[in-house]
Amino acid sequence: MKKALFPGTFDPPTLGHLDLIQRASKLCDKLYIGIGHNSSKNKPLFTLSEKEELVKTITKDIRNAEVISFSGLVVECAQELKVDYLIRGLRTFSDFEYECQMAFANNKMTGIETLFLMADSQYAHLSSTLIKEIAHYKHRLTDFIPASIEEAVFNKLKD
Ligand code: ADP
Repeated sequence: MKKALFPGTFDPPTLGHLDLIQRASKLCDKLYIGIGHNSSKNKPLFTLSEKEELVKTITKDIRNAEVISFSGLVVECAQELKVDYLIRGLRTFSDFEYECQMAFANNKMTGIETLFLMADSQYAHLSSTLIKEIAHYKHRLTDFIPASIEEAVFNKLKD
């Protein structure tokens, strides 16, 4: 049984995240979606439990997915869960540079492999940061966020 962990900040989750989760869930028997804290990013807008709720809502129909949150290093979480590999997404060349560093470091620390999935071209421009910017100007989020969480995310972000 192959288990994988897709870690991220998900502040908030986007259609791009959901697309990656759907595709990754077909490549393993069990997919953990790990909501963590990225120390190199600004203070998150959503709390860990809010993000957990949002990700649970958008993945409720994916039978082999389980949402968890973790503090500390991704590799420590991966070891606790005994996963076979990490999953990460690649959108742009700048993602590649950052992701290379992380994958090398994670592999050095624990031997764990990272599998990369290319972003779908229709979502490659999408990031949580962009969504926060759009909502700040009170524009609807229909094209960027799964419909099931649009209202919750918009209400939190519009002020
Ligand atoms: P982190 O702070 O760990 O990078 P993010 O939530 O920003 O957390 O991203 C988590 C993972 O999802 C990363 O591998 C990122 O490349 C991927 N990702 C983010 N947005 C998209 C998207 N639009 N399409 C595909 N993958 C994405």
